[in-house]
Amino acid sequence: MRNILLFVLFLLAVFYVRRALRGGPRREEGGDSAPEQPASQAPVGEIEQMVACAHCGVHVPESEGVTSGGRFFCSEEHRRLGARP
Ligand SMILES: [Zn+2]
Repeated sequence: MRNILLFVLFLLAVFYVRRALRGGPRREEGGDSAPEQPASQAPVGEIEQMVACAHCGVHVPESEGVTSGGRFFCSEEHRRLGARP
């Protein structure tokens, strides 16, 4: 019984240490999350280019659309349907 208690305490200790190790850097990132987040995604202030869909003509942010054969489409379905004059 004592061994089980020690084992549980050990697991709790491991859990807290792991959480502390993971929480530490996360808290540091949280302080300057504003410059950190856009670096991995889109830079702040840089307006994403809007591209017209070759099928329906709707302007969609470049990252949200699909490019195929040098043409840009707003969705996977319109890419499948192909370009329309
Ligand atoms: Zn479209």
